[in-house]
Amino acid sequence: MSTKQKRYFLAEEDIPRQWYYIQADMPNKPLPPLNPATKQPMKEEDFYPLFAKELAHQELNTTDAWIDIPEEVRDLYKYYRSTPLVRAYGLEKALGTPAHIYFKNESVSPIGSHKLNSALAQVYYCKQEGITNVTTETGAGQWGAALSYAARVFGIEAAVYQVKISYEQKPYRRSIMQTFGAQVTPSPSMSTRAGKDVLTKDPMNQGSLGTAISEAVELAMTTPNCKYVLGSVLNHVALHQTIIGLEAEKQMEMAGEYPDVVIGCFGGGSNFGGISFPFMRHNIKDGKKTRFIAAEPASCPKLTRGVFQYDFGDLSGLTPLLPMYTLGHNFMPANIHAGGLRYHGAGVIISQLLKDGYMEAVDIQQTETFKSGLIFAKAEGIIPAPESCHAIAAAIREAEKCKETGEEKVILFNLSGHGLIDMSAYDQYLSGSLHDYEVSDEDVQKNVSELEQIIK
Ligand SMILES: *Cc1c(COP(=O)(O)O)cnc(C)c1O
Repeated sequence: MSTKQKRYFLAEEDIPRQWYYIQADMPNKPLPPLNPATKQPMKEEDFYPLFAKELAHQELNTTDAWIDIPEEVRDLYKYYRSTPLVRAYGLEKALGTPAHIYFKNESVSPIGSHKLNSALAQVYYCKQEGITNVTTETGAGQWGAALSYAARVFGIEAAVYQVKISYEQKPYRRSIMQTFGAQVTPSPSMSTRAGKDVLTKDPMNQGSLGTAISEAVELAMTTPNCKYVLGSVLNHVALHQTIIGLEAEKQMEMAGEYPDVVIGCFGGGSNFGGISFPFMRHNIKDGKKTRFIAAEPASCPKLTRGVFQYDFGDLSGLTPLLPMYTLGHNFMPANIHAGGLRYHGAGVIISQLLKDGYMEAVDIQQTETFKSGLIFAKAEGIIPAPESCHAIAAAIREAEKCKETGEEKVILFNLSGHGLIDMSAYDQYLSGSLHDYEVSDEDVQKNVSELEQIIK
């Protein structure tokens, strides 16, 4: 009889009671967000028109390392947490590597990705403050689905602007949002001034995240008791996602191991930060030497080829200026299937950590990510989201290095979501019609050189 344990779970009473805020422990704190008009540092109150007060407070909190998870949120986490920490014996065997590979399976949440960890928290704080409506934008729909479910749970109305091309081409996440009772509007729409402006110039416009953000922000500003919520990039979103790494830390202990390498795919940084920060804490405080690798698409390489600069969070230049690694807010990523990774910038905490050498980044082409995703699916029986395939590809690269050197390294990666609603992408890969995309140095140069004007 085998004694090999495959999955590790925490009992409900062992689910963490606090999130971990790495800002408090960082030797160099991130630079402050700036008001786009005055270029002055923004205060908590400046965010109140748009965000719930507690979330504005969390966003700028650089002193508290531990933030209590509200009991109501923790009770809702119990619907799907703890998520399993899985030893990837199948993948190890398929690769013939001496490495010990573990993954944290966030795909088991009701909406199939990690995004719910923050959606539940954000809607909870809105509800506490008497807010009745929340609004957001979504591309492929992972964040919109998470928000719709969270809004349903707390009895709040959700209005989601979904990029029109996704609304039409990827109907199933729209159906999920509608199943939970959200109002989903294809963007650009005639319901906002921002949408009307786009449509009067170009009636056939297929939409973009930039336009959808503008529409959601406008709705929040013009509707009483309505707040805007965001699924990534901001500090408080990464804070909520640390539930992933905090659980993993306890589960790795159950497995009797500690990771040499921690890997996450990278869109705005929330799932990468979520799995990394609790372990990175021990690098900062206890001299551990774990490596942290963010895996981004080669077609949107902000961490590996972008510049560290103040930039807007959105394409239209409406948001505060954030100090981050960026390709410039006008950078238009190719239409890869990992929609959740098509973002020009990176969260400010991650950007500072990368600048200070606490982590690394790699960029990976789309076909390598799907090739890796298929190896994983066949070996472990889970079809990964196209975004998560980036983390898998980076993990496989590391495991193959171990095969060459014979090292038994412990590799931990985050499986941010499943790909069961992304099968058209797999179809394209299997039929050989999926492309890689090269980003030219000229294109990067052109977009980042525009940024110098902003901050002057
Ligand atoms: C949104 C999303 C991502 C990317 O967002 P991060 O904030 O960088 O984590 C990754 N994986 C999945 C499945 C997603 O839905």
